[in-house]
Amino acid sequence: KGHDHSVGNIVNYHGLECDACDRSFDRIGYSCLECDFTVHTKCAFVFNAQETLSEHPSHVGHGLQLITTGAPAHTNPHCHICGKNTKRLLYHCTTCNLNLDIDCMVDAMCSRSNLNMPWHYHPLLMLDVDYHLLCVVCGLPGGYGYCCPRCRLMVHEKCATIFDSPEIRHHFHAKHSLKLLTQGAPDYTDAICHVCGKHPGNFL
Ligand SMILES: [Zn+2]
Ligand SMILES: [Zn+2]
Ligand SMILES: [Zn+2]
Ligand SMILES: [Zn+2]
Ligand SMILES: [Zn+2]
Ligand SMILES: [Zn+2]
Ligand SMILES: [Zn+2]
Repeated sequence: KGHDHSVGNIVNYHGLECDACDRSFDRIGYSCLECDFTVHTKCAFVFNAQETLSEHPSHVGHGLQLITTGAPAHTNPHCHICGKNTKRLLYHCTTCNLNLDIDCMVDAMCSRSNLNMPWHYHPLLMLDVDYHLLCVVCGLPGGYGYCCPRCRLMVHEKCATIFDSPEIRHHFHAKHSLKLLTQGAPDYTDAICHVCGKHPGNFL
């Protein structure tokens, strides 16, 4: 979707080289057999955010185009803002004939948002992310909800109600209140669930 060729799902246990970001540790994505275009499933949300992600403050009123085949010939492939080499997935300003990478577009999108939630340290957007992102609360694939495009994190609107009472009590810790964290286990803990011994990831 959003690409001219048909793409397939791939899983690479060594990590994927993604055309939208530098995080090669994520393993699940879409890949095109015809042109090597590869993108994390998590990063594919940009195709759902095209309306939100169509303007950059430095190019107001210019038509920015999402391109999946690399910088057009005769243009500078480096991002106009941060100078990094763009990959296959990028935004192209047809008016100025220059290119912007996904990270800079995402940053601009976040900095315009005033949706700050006490449970996350980045401003959030209300987006329909389709099935590309999993809700960190219920684990089901996307739909409409709060989305942090930087962290590729999403929480359904209805699931976010658990944040209204972040101090919950667990019978193993009946005398202590527990706090819900979204930024991973604190450094001073062993990052393992005290009850079942599993690694909880960033959400505990
Ligand atoms: Zn990616
Ligand atoms: Zn292709
Ligand atoms: Zn950039
Ligand atoms: Zn422009
Ligand atoms: Zn949910
Ligand atoms: Zn975030
Ligand atoms: Zn557990």
